[in-house]
Amino acid sequence: MKATGDLQLLKRINRSVLLRLIRSQPDLSRARLASLSGLTKSTVSALVRELLDEHWLSEAAAPVATQSMGRPSTPLNIDTTRRVLIGIEIAVDCLRVVCVSLSGVILTQTEAPLQDQRPEQACRQMGLLVQALCRQLQEKGLLLSGVGVCLPGAVDEALGIVRLAPNLGWRDVPFRSMVATEFAALGIPTAYIQLQNDADAAALGEYEFAGGSGDDPLIFVNCDVGVGAGIVLNDRLFTGFLGAAGEIGHSILQVDGPLCSCGRKGCAEAFIGARALGRPRGLVRAGQYLGVMLQNLDAMFNPHVIVVGGRSCIDHPALIETARSAQQAYAHAAGLQAPEVRAARFGVQAAAVGAAALVLHQFLRPLLKESKHVPGH
Ligand SMILES: [Zn+2]
Repeated sequence: MKATGDLQLLKRINRSVLLRLIRSQPDLSRARLASLSGLTKSTVSALVRELLDEHWLSEAAAPVATQSMGRPSTPLNIDTTRRVLIGIEIAVDCLRVVCVSLSGVILTQTEAPLQDQRPEQACRQMGLLVQALCRQLQEKGLLLSGVGVCLPGAVDEALGIVRLAPNLGWRDVPFRSMVATEFAALGIPTAYIQLQNDADAAALGEYEFAGGSGDDPLIFVNCDVGVGAGIVLNDRLFTGFLGAAGEIGHSILQVDGPLCSCGRKGCAEAFIGARALGRPRGLVRAGQYLGVMLQNLDAMFNPHVIVVGGRSCIDHPALIETARSAQQAYAHAAGLQAPEVRAARFGVQAAAVGAAALVLHQFLRPLLKESKHVPGH
């Protein structure tokens, strides 16, 4: 039985290698895929056939002549018309549900007030929204590849447990299995469910759906009532020992500074969190302190890109401008190049789209620890 398991894993790894190659280099031929992957032409041919049949890939209707003297080849691409991903953000006061294509194009989006913050009730409300969405997908002949869920809290992704979500009042909730049970009861056709922190999901959304090769390292800074960050490092999320990496809202920016919601003094959230923005000169000061935080992140991770998003940035675009100028000044003072700092690509949907990206990210990396919970594909 072990040998069969190994062979299935090997096949999934090989399939993911081909998908990732085709994603980063459109219009690849089977021959080119074989030479880039190191797999034999017959293996590539068999796997490509499967991926075409399952609508992961599409091929041009007619072969295209190659520049060399060889046989004409048929360019392969990711099929962005049949398979879809669902992403869900459970925010403190609302649920956001998006359906995206494999290339990250938002096909549908729904937002509803969160009726009840308790896990069972939130799970139920979410299930009903997804059930309605799945009916629409079925009518359009679209195939669901999986569902990602994210929320504002520390998540043990391997076990699917929400360790702590203070703003929802959750602690040690086995949420992924609750969602799986609910979906099964509602006849939702997927067993592929991922669970992650919202800022981590948002970072992954920016990384996976960048169109081409993702920027790495990439940090997503989420500015809302709280302030958090998601970190993509070496092609994966860096979530820390207990899933709490990136809790930058509670990094200290001033000794004996203003009181923070966590009970400490001088935390970043006390300067940059949404509550601080309403004070006199709050916005300018928040921008400057956000710049300090970007500088600290740059010093720690030397990121390629820092994406700044969240409700505060959508309501106050000047926040990003002030922060970027401040960070650039810090970099120039040391004769260094500042990282690119940009606004979130998906705006208010950043976390929900990121939750959808979780599904694709895991599927394309079968050796990540979370995938051991995933039924065979
Ligand atoms: Zn704090």
